[in-house]
Amino acid sequence: MHDDLIALIDRFSQIGSTMDGGVRRLTGSPEDGAARTLFAQLATERGASVITDAVGNMFATFPTAPDADTTVLCGSHLDSQPTGGRFDGTLGVLAALDAAAALLAEGTPLRHNITVVNWTNEEGARFQPSLTGSSVFTGKYTADFALGLRDRLGTSMGEALEAIGWLGEDSLGLTPVHNLELHVEQGGHLEESGVQIGAVTASWGVRKLTLSFVGAPSHTGPTAMPQRRDAMRAAALAITRFHDQMEAETARLHWSAAKIVAEPDSPNVVASRVTVYFEIRNPDQAVCTEVGDRFMQAITKDVAALGCAIDVATDEARPGTPLSAEGVGMTLEAASALGLSATPMLTITGHDALALAAVMPSTLVFVPSVGGLSHSPLELTHPQDLRNGGAMIQALLRRLTA
Ligand SMILES: [Zn+2]
Repeated sequence: MHDDLIALIDRFSQIGSTMDGGVRRLTGSPEDGAARTLFAQLATERGASVITDAVGNMFATFPTAPDADTTVLCGSHLDSQPTGGRFDGTLGVLAALDAAAALLAEGTPLRHNITVVNWTNEEGARFQPSLTGSSVFTGKYTADFALGLRDRLGTSMGEALEAIGWLGEDSLGLTPVHNLELHVEQGGHLEESGVQIGAVTASWGVRKLTLSFVGAPSHTGPTAMPQRRDAMRAAALAITRFHDQMEAETARLHWSAAKIVAEPDSPNVVASRVTVYFEIRNPDQAVCTEVGDRFMQAITKDVAALGCAIDVATDEARPGTPLSAEGVGMTLEAASALGLSATPMLTITGHDALALAAVMPSTLVFVPSVGGLSHSPLELTHPQDLRNGGAMIQALLRRLTA
């Protein structure tokens, strides 16, 4: 008898567990390696063959249609934020594993195989950009680009994956006909509306604007104040302006300036280059663009007055992506058949399912997050909601492979 979904989640939450009840499993870390090893072992025990591609994406194919060269992809990610919760990503991989194993065990031949996937570096915590593995799979990024991404200590993603033994060379070898992902909502919509299942129709757009403020290095003691070109001060001014402006905008926005990298990073040198990661989100990408442009205009003069320049390190638009309309319909039907309440909804956050939607029909299903909290050790989805999600994945895989 195999562990049920809740027991599986408990096992993974011990890998990289933190004192405050969360998990820390950064891509390419020993904890990521341990989670990968356990996933491969559990999938193999349940009858899957596991392969790893050039960027560490893991594909565990359950031969539910041994004569077919087609498969349904179902999975999520096992990496986490530094302050990750137990369910973000892990739920999607383990619900897929549990459901695929159950369908294989029934022994009825299906129309397609089922491939449970662990996508590499979904979180983008250690290596940016996020959604790395799934975006290489779709051809948005090359494997060389992804493997060359460096963390703040200069280690590349390729080196990190190789160090933990999870740099592969295989390719899927089957034609995927549909992608399915279960995820915790990471927002409060389902909980507030008292609905059990979210059928995600599309994502909000986001503008990811990474700006480097460029000044000049000099001693923090003797350098005369008017001579300083202080990139930290320019960054501080920009961050303050950013929040003030976003608060005053009339559009419904979610925004952040969440990461800062200072160079040369010494308390005794005036910062010469400070890079800030800004994000602006709205259902409509055009709004993100306009608001971001207004922000750039608003800070350019004042940053120049501090003797600093602005270098646009990256300016990435991720427009709202529609998911499979057929998948949304199927999700609502499957929920109704299981006696669960369900609603169509948008996602504010990025997911591998959105990356995959570029190349195949892709379906994303949400279960509630208590308090809408995520990327936090306090992230929580109740056991019954986890089970509901697992039942939904099994029901949807059944429909997609029948
Ligand atoms: Zn996630």
